[in-house]
Amino acid sequence: MLDTPGVRELGLWDADQGLADTFTEILDLADRCLYRDCRHQKEPGCAVQAAIRAGELDESRLASYRRLGEELAGQPTEADRREAARQVSKAAEVAAHARARRADNGWRER
Ligand SMILES: [Zn+2]
Repeated sequence: MLDTPGVRELGLWDADQGLADTFTEILDLADRCLYRDCRHQKEPGCAVQAAIRAGELDESRLASYRRLGEELAGQPTEADRREAARQVSKAAEVAAHARARRADNGWRER
């Protein structure tokens, strides 16, 4: 099995900084996919697959990310799915903030 430190430990229902950090690079790449609903499998113009081919992204990371997505997609009820989607977009948001903070490195935080 893959040993990416704990999708489960991090907690599906607590999409915190840790989760966002774990998948920041994938979320980053996913931003550049041709299709917004890209599943990063065989879609044309998939930036994630391109990064894997280029050796810039470890395939096991995508596997972990995808497993998380599948767990979320497998939620039994509409309400659960909606909550899962909310958590994922929150993780993406946190990742974007982390990115912005890195970009602003050296600036005084207010
Ligand atoms: Zn993709």
